[in-house]
Amino acid sequence: MSTPITRYLDLNDMRRLVDTVGLRPMLVAVVEALREDYARWTEFEKCPRTANHHPLGVLELMPTSDQELFSFKFVNGHPKNPALGLCTVMAFGALAKMDTGWPVLLSEMTILTAIRTAATSVLAAQSMARPDSKVMAMIGNGAQSEFQLIAFNEFLGIDTFRLYDVDPLATQKLLRNLSHDRALTLVPCASTAEAVCGADIVTTCTADKAYATILTDAMVQPGMHINGIGGDCPGKTELEASILKRARVVVEFEPQSRIEGEIQQMPANFPVIELWEVLTGKVNGRASAEEVTVFDSVGFSLEDFSALRVVNRLAEEHNIGTPLNLMPLMPDVKDVYGLIQPAAVVS
Ligand code: NAD
Repeated sequence: MSTPITRYLDLNDMRRLVDTVGLRPMLVAVVEALREDYARWTEFEKCPRTANHHPLGVLELMPTSDQELFSFKFVNGHPKNPALGLCTVMAFGALAKMDTGWPVLLSEMTILTAIRTAATSVLAAQSMARPDSKVMAMIGNGAQSEFQLIAFNEFLGIDTFRLYDVDPLATQKLLRNLSHDRALTLVPCASTAEAVCGADIVTTCTADKAYATILTDAMVQPGMHINGIGGDCPGKTELEASILKRARVVVEFEPQSRIEGEIQQMPANFPVIELWEVLTGKVNGRASAEEVTVFDSVGFSLEDFSALRVVNRLAEEHNIGTPLNLMPLMPDVKDVYGLIQPAAVVS
């Protein structure tokens, strides 16, 4: 057996990787991996994530595996963090071999979560939004927003984005980051209602630990696709319940979404479709041009698995990251005691 390594990717390494590969090609690679992995849904060990709650936020662990690899992500959600100079969502994760337990990758996942969330959004929208969609409203212009815009432009040809955030500085930041991109027409708006007006797709990506009503039923027009990604925790929603009643609702993993998604507002027997069913052609993502469709996304461990395996391959190809001295390699593997002796060389 060749000597195994644990590759460590910090924020700088991830920045270098995205810079080397390019954000759009990286999104393409993650969407491809997601499509492959969702197509073999039954091969994965799945469970709702564990969530430890605090009045100000939540800390979550998200594990999954197939027969070859195991992955987990540690992620938080603290909507008041920005006032303290911290991100609302921060994450790291690992990928390990199932046959030996050896971790092959330990990686930052704050950037990677934004990439995989955007990749999952467009994967769903490709089957659920009207094919003639051109305009998207982006409600919540925080950390996830630029990734969403770039992905929707790349995969669905959306070229006009109507922007709204209660914090004008967040919208200014988005404009500063993406105004140079001539493929995108960016239209700042004064309210959610104004932003949603004329939109084919509405992405809600706000952060508030509350049953918020970001999108009211009256704002939703026939044929709209709603990419709801900000409501992802018990007691944290964005859509008025009556929108769900008249829409086709797709979720990632039903047992987790019943607890965390927009559908927590609905009775336990409210009918939903799982994303894998749409992606494998078992169920249609949209029945007619007039139908309202909702992707009630909370983020699922399979998406982190797919993103981590892409990053592991690309980091290896481009020789990015450093070996981490995390797991013991030693001549007598039963001599862990020897590792704590003064003469031990641990490498
Ligand atoms: P963020 O704090 O960086 O951005 C959220 C933005 O929403 C802020 O700029 C805030 O001012 C704005 N906002 C809050 N209330 C609003 C309102 N009523 N109207 C308009 N704007 C409002 O957070 P982020 O990292 O961009 O994440 C946004 C949300 O998405 C969080 O709730 C997070 O938990 C969720 N999220 C979901 C997934 C997923 O897979 N579904 C992945 C990542 C993040």
